[in-house]
Amino acid sequence: MGNTNKYILALDQGTTSSRAIVFDHHGQIVTSAQKPFEQLFPKPGWVEHDPNEIWSTQAGVAAEAVAKAGLNGQNIAAIGITNQRETTIVWDRITGQPVYNAIVWQDRRTSKFCDDLNEKGYAEAIRKKTGLVIDAYFSATKINWILENIPGTRQRAEKGELCFGTVDSWLTWKFTQGKIHITDVTNASRTMLFNIHTLQWDPELLKIFDIPLGMLPEVKSCSEIYCETATTLFATKIPIAGIAGDQQAALFGQLCTNEGMAKNTYGTGCFMVMNTGSKPVESKNNLLTTIGWKIGNNTTYALEGSVFVAGAAIQWLRDGINMISHSSESETLANQVTDNGGVYFVPALTGLGAPYWDQYARGTIVGITRGTTSAHITRAALESIAFQSYDVLKSMESDAGKPTLELRVDGGAVANNFLMQFQADICGSKVVRPQILETTALGAAYLAGLAVGFWDGLDDLKNHWAVDKTFSPGMEKSVIADYLKQWHKAVDRSRNWIEK
Ligand code: ADP
Repeated sequence: MGNTNKYILALDQGTTSSRAIVFDHHGQIVTSAQKPFEQLFPKPGWVEHDPNEIWSTQAGVAAEAVAKAGLNGQNIAAIGITNQRETTIVWDRITGQPVYNAIVWQDRRTSKFCDDLNEKGYAEAIRKKTGLVIDAYFSATKINWILENIPGTRQRAEKGELCFGTVDSWLTWKFTQGKIHITDVTNASRTMLFNIHTLQWDPELLKIFDIPLGMLPEVKSCSEIYCETATTLFATKIPIAGIAGDQQAALFGQLCTNEGMAKNTYGTGCFMVMNTGSKPVESKNNLLTTIGWKIGNNTTYALEGSVFVAGAAIQWLRDGINMISHSSESETLANQVTDNGGVYFVPALTGLGAPYWDQYARGTIVGITRGTTSAHITRAALESIAFQSYDVLKSMESDAGKPTLELRVDGGAVANNFLMQFQADICGSKVVRPQILETTALGAAYLAGLAVGFWDGLDDLKNHWAVDKTFSPGMEKSVIADYLKQWHKAVDRSRNWIEK
């Protein structure tokens, strides 16, 4: 099909940097480019980005990655976009100028609004429609904040003069010079305004959050030709043909395309997502129900659980208490001892995420004796990443009603073989590390490539799947039980620590 001189350009618009990767027909990376941008912290708990900088860095790295490969726009069969989710941008429909900075997913300014909604008893209704727990994390309260606090915006929004979008909407708008205002189902499912069952913006939710329907983007599938780029960046018009939020894109990039398959990303935190097939699974264990992707008329649902501090615990050993000088040293040190020596580290440095959701928990190291060394503490820190992931995985398995045979992994900390082996042992599942760890960008590339016929279908993609290393479980059941007993005891010690 004449694909030999054609490539897919994946744009990965993350929280701290914009990245672009050119993939070839075998799903291999040809070139990549990355540019960080400014993080704005106007007040404690507030996090903002300049939308124009998001655009300029993203456009810049797109051009750079293509140029580095010695290619031009004509060689790009399609563009796929993946992005930091929930981050909220509102802009003027005519001028394209943002009315305020992007309010980033981490921003906590609307926590009080969320507490009020919880007190008014909206939690169950919102969870039923959106699959989400009421939290400042999601877009709805952030849009409301802009309309309430930036003079004139409410009237303008009601007159249809303003557009809201997550970062994918903003980028497609910019790439088409304002011709289209769209998002995809995965990004929509994180706004808290989208009914994940009907796949529509929900009038009742719009009322609760006081947001005019007219400012919302049209919701599309994850893999279709949405538009062609205007010729601002490349001389040729290139189809934009895939969009998914970062975690969903990673699930697709890991080819977790069958029900029950799951991936875990080990970065600053851990993000675990499980494909639950064509029906949304309501969580009884405080996980989020979300949309995995929609291709054609088929919607795939997912369960999601996040651990707040994972790799960040290793960062803390390095930068906070100078116990190690490089993250990778954690593996060498952990291997110097035969076990954790009874030491358990609960890295609840910013509270505990799924399945505990305890914002009052704090970091705890227990079981210290006179024989404890830095090797034991480092080993306990690595083990804590695996224990926390275990807790999320078991919650997912319980919600989904079946065990996971293998966990596909990515993110910076998967370089650590000790951690990966311990994860396999504790979970009793295979842990599979693929050769290509850029799964987020790869997922966006796959979605775009499928839409333009660059790849023929899932079977074609599966041919590219290559394993770097599989870690098989081998620990005795009684040993696992002892570890888990102590771990959960340690978690109890960390909980509800600071005064409310
Ligand atoms: P993010 O995208 O969240 O910034 P990355 O996927 O780049 O994170 O992963 C970086 C994280 O992984 C850091 O927190 C770092 O401490 C941790 N990390 C990197 N290498 C190792 C290693 N060899 N062992 C353990 N942790 C590691």
